[in-house]
Amino acid sequence: MDRKKDNRKRSLVMKFGGTSVGSPEAILQTASIIQKQNQEWDQLVVVISAMSGITNLLIACTQDAVISNQEGYQNGIELIRKRHIENIDHLPYSTQSRKKVKTIIEKFMEILHNYCVSIQTMGEVTPRGMDAITSLGERMNVRQISALLLEQGVPNQPIDADELIITDANFQNACPLREPTLQKVEALVVPLLHDKVVPVITGFISGTEEGITTTLGRGGSDYTASVLGDCLDAQEVWTWTDVDGVMTADPSVVANAKVISKLTFDEVSEMAYFGAKVLHPKTIRPLMEKGIPLWVKNTFNPSGAGTCISKDAREKTGFVTCVTTIRDVSLITVRGKGMLGVPGVAARTFSAVAKEDTSVLMISQSSSEQSICFVIPSHDEINVIRSLKNELAFELSRGDVDAVNALSKVVIITAISAGMRHTPGVSAKIFGALGKKRINVIAIAQGSSEYSISMVVAGKEADAAVQQIHTEVIINGTRK
Ligand code: ADP
Ligand code: ASP
Ligand code: MG
Repeated sequence: MDRKKDNRKRSLVMKFGGTSVGSPEAILQTASIIQKQNQEWDQLVVVISAMSGITNLLIACTQDAVISNQEGYQNGIELIRKRHIENIDHLPYSTQSRKKVKTIIEKFMEILHNYCVSIQTMGEVTPRGMDAITSLGERMNVRQISALLLEQGVPNQPIDADELIITDANFQNACPLREPTLQKVEALVVPLLHDKVVPVITGFISGTEEGITTTLGRGGSDYTASVLGDCLDAQEVWTWTDVDGVMTADPSVVANAKVISKLTFDEVSEMAYFGAKVLHPKTIRPLMEKGIPLWVKNTFNPSGAGTCISKDAREKTGFVTCVTTIRDVSLITVRGKGMLGVPGVAARTFSAVAKEDTSVLMISQSSSEQSICFVIPSHDEINVIRSLKNELAFELSRGDVDAVNALSKVVIITAISAGMRHTPGVSAKIFGALGKKRINVIAIAQGSSEYSISMVVAGKEADAAVQQIHTEVIINGTRK
């Protein structure tokens, strides 16, 4: 479906990540970007994350409360309070407004304290409880930023997105429901836009139809922005972060990583799925059908070109566009000489994994030996091994299955490029590059989309492997 651009106001959704709103300097920078874009676009929607580090601190408080570490969670609450109060002290609020915002923060600290006391009493926290608590970071931040924008002459309205982004009840990783969300957006956001009031919306937070708070998963503010972009039929969505755009590798691992100026939706989806933290893995989905372009830009270098992600725009790069990693994963192997003769072992293997609510990140089947290998997050390893041993107990006792093993502390490295499917020899280049550095590849898988090749290497070799693929295949590689 083509986007209808006629008779429509030009609208933009902008999302600011944790570091873009993590200090007084960053917030001032963010505020000036909002002011500027509010003048340039007919309609502007702003999505705000928690201040950087706050979501982690909130999670740490709950963990301390579960183990009855009262001093631990009290210190955590104090740290969260201090970050916000010092921030407010350094921002140019009027005396009255500063007082008002501080009172709001104190109220949230009281709520957090009460949650922690309840968790301590119960000795546990449910996923629903986690969402109620982790949502507090965004709730506080929209209020302090909204108040500042108001003082700077930007008419705006803070909105808690648990009344806006309607989801299923899959706490901590909720799935937005388009129709009810669309209705809420029509009711709560569109009237503000008509009045040229900027909605300042909490990222990450969502809610069920019954009004219970859910969240979209870690890093979910990107997803909030794209869901809103779709519901509003926005012209563009921009995510503002702390790097110059989507890069050829994680710049914290590869010093000479380069900004990629144009990427397709498919490439970015694959990148985000395979660990590029710069975007939440589901961000692209709501934008694809209407072809709404997504820009990734640097808050601290706003005049930089950034990355444009769209339907077909594509930079002419080398064999491979970028390389990503998923860390803290385990390779599980189910092996047995008698496995081939036993029908349904593969199906039962994966249903045993599914019972644990674990997502399988990569599957690789060896043809020389009768084995099934797959990769899961390490925190699920013990439960998955237990579940597999239960499911395959009979085959294990008969010796049809010899072993169910886990190799911990491995890393999935993925080389991504939309050009890969038309270019022979990409795998040879990648494995040749790793061979030169004597890096051992433990398992390999090629996505059916042919946008990517993933390999598993030992955790201690991961950085070297990424750097080697980056240098030899991305920087030095050329398309034939
Ligand atoms: P925000 O809080 O703005 O959402 P994130 O920390 O979630 O920011 O994502 C930005 C970070 O993603 C960067 O600082 C960078 O370290 C990391 N990153 C990982 N892979 C990539 C990549 N391929 N391109 C850009 N950044 C990446
Ligand atoms: N604050 C949330 C997190 O840290 C969401 C986000 O930053 O996008 O995961
Ligand atoms: Mg993020």
